[in-house]
Amino acid sequence: MPEIRQLDKHVADLIAAGEVVERPASVAKELLENAMDAGASAIVVELERGGLTYLRITDNGCGIAPEQLPVAFLRHATSKLRTAEDLAAIGTLGFRGEALAAISAVSRVDILSRTVGAEAGATLHLEGGVPGEVRPSGCPEGTTIVVRDLFYNTPARMKFMKKDSAEGAAVTSIVTHLALSHPEISFKLLRDGAEALHTPGDGRLQSAIYAALGRDFALHLLPIHGSGDAVSVEGFVTEPLHGHGTRARQIFFVNGRFVKSQLLSAALEEAYRNQIMKGKFPGCVLHITLPMQQVDVNVHPAKTVVKFAADKPVFDAVYYTVLDTLNGQNRPAQPPKKEEPFYQTMTAEQFKAKAAQVTPPPAAKPPVGSYTSRPAVPAVPKGQTVYVRDVVPEPQKPFVAETVSGGREVTYHITPPPAPPVKEKEPEPVQQAMEPETEAPWRIVGEVLKTYIICEDSHSNVWLIDKHAAHERIRFDALKAHSEPLMAQPLLTPLTVDLEGDSYGAVLEHLDTLRQFGFVCEDFGGGTVLVREIPADIRPEDASSTLEELGQKLALGRADPAGARDELYHTMACKSAIKAGMDTSPAELRALVEQVQSGKIQYCPHGRPVKYKLTRYEIEKMFKRA
Ligand code: ADP
Ligand code: MG
Repeated sequence: MPEIRQLDKHVADLIAAGEVVERPASVAKELLENAMDAGASAIVVELERGGLTYLRITDNGCGIAPEQLPVAFLRHATSKLRTAEDLAAIGTLGFRGEALAAISAVSRVDILSRTVGAEAGATLHLEGGVPGEVRPSGCPEGTTIVVRDLFYNTPARMKFMKKDSAEGAAVTSIVTHLALSHPEISFKLLRDGAEALHTPGDGRLQSAIYAALGRDFALHLLPIHGSGDAVSVEGFVTEPLHGHGTRARQIFFVNGRFVKSQLLSAALEEAYRNQIMKGKFPGCVLHITLPMQQVDVNVHPAKTVVKFAADKPVFDAVYYTVLDTLNGQNRPAQPPKKEEPFYQTMTAEQFKAKAAQVTPPPAAKPPVGSYTSRPAVPAVPKGQTVYVRDVVPEPQKPFVAETVSGGREVTYHITPPPAPPVKEKEPEPVQQAMEPETEAPWRIVGEVLKTYIICEDSHSNVWLIDKHAAHERIRFDALKAHSEPLMAQPLLTPLTVDLEGDSYGAVLEHLDTLRQFGFVCEDFGGGTVLVREIPADIRPEDASSTLEELGQKLALGRADPAGARDELYHTMACKSAIKAGMDTSPAELRALVEQVQSGKIQYCPHGRPVKYKLTRYEIEKMFKRA
């Protein structure tokens, strides 16, 4: 029987070190968190050979007193926790008092520190965890720690290290994530002498993104902020036209901690569904904040997984906040509805002046981009009807909703959102400069190539609209919003459509679904279906190709019913939309332009833009006038 013995201190320390120190990136993370806990506002990280031979971290935090230097390297030595009660209210990143002990056990460490206001500082050298003497030393306020020859005394661990470049990249991503979660701290990273990253520490997330993730990413972002059910969401998301090839740029923080989460990625991507090109992914830098007790914090500090007490409120908060931003971008005030001839003979200015005479000022709108999960009307039990009297509440008037239930009337009074602050009257010329708020309808100049509508707005911009893309989007939104079956038109002579094996089976399996889309079919045997009715807004000559496409999509979409339904809507929208190259009546074109101008539609369901803006300046540049 083997003898049971207590491990000697050196071996015990090495084992403990293995748990904390996996690779250079974990050393960097621990040392950076210490610097942040010390209140540093600027931190510099330098590394050579991926951090394996040399890793230096300098901060301007509170520093460590000379006599405390050796203590900091003892196991379970911490300044951040005293009693068991403190455990319940931890406000620092570290608290276990393990990191410095563990790091010094597997490397050669030099520490140099001076506390704020002290005359001088001190240094200490440790070799494999064994401290030398504390010596006085001149140094700036704050702490510098140099870690050399990581794993020099644990060759087994050394074998697990990847190439220097991979280890260096892992350190870079740690620094990047910390920089993005703390825009108020300036982070600088030098890799083999070259500056890899330098954030200004001005407190603005946007500056940190620009510095840490690059100009290209930072220039195509939309700010978002919203909250619901005690979950708040802040940050930036990719403009739909600038999707990325991978999910690498989806960066989430939960209560300040970088996390990887399929739930959060899914909520983000769901909001972009039908707005982004196929095969492209949205990027983001999102800070999600929720009450501590709703997140499982009992995870390994180095791990990036997160568990929520309830997934749905978190999913909804991200999904609706992002969706709201995507739908709300560039949404101008509603253009006035007017009966006007199609080809307008007036200039945009004249038109605007005329429109202004009959157009009331736009109603105050709630700010775009704020998601509140509180319903606008109190929840009404099933079976009751709600009558809403004032849909858009007048400022300072209570919002009134009545429910009528079995002859009983209940009236709810809801206080409207606070009115926007009253602006002081501006002098006359300034007010004219502010005019853009009241948007006149775009003047339609005409149509070219039987595809593009050309318009002019009242701010000297020219707009090109892709009529098919725009109409496809309108049809798609209408189909999605419509829950009743589509109108069908009976055919005098039923149509026979031959289908491929898979599609044939799928069509027969989904006859009810197809009926909802306006196709009334029955089996004719041998791969052929008989079509008796087709959707009212599909041209008869397009009926068989539409059914073939629906059949293929039904066959493909068995795994993902929700996605499959959207695919069916795509087909129906595409087939029933005005096509490029077709003649389109002036009234139809005008209706399209109104929808596009309202900002309600931005992209076709496949993510292509529906409009393109040319400013006067761009045109003048083209002709070398500017
Ligand atoms: P923990 O961070 O869990 O307390 P560490 O081993 O990482 O444990 O650090 C031990 C102690 O050393 C800390 O509690 C802190 O008092 C001190 N310390 C470490 N790094 C710094 C630093 N950069 N600036 C000031 N104090 C530090
Ligand atoms: Mg620590």
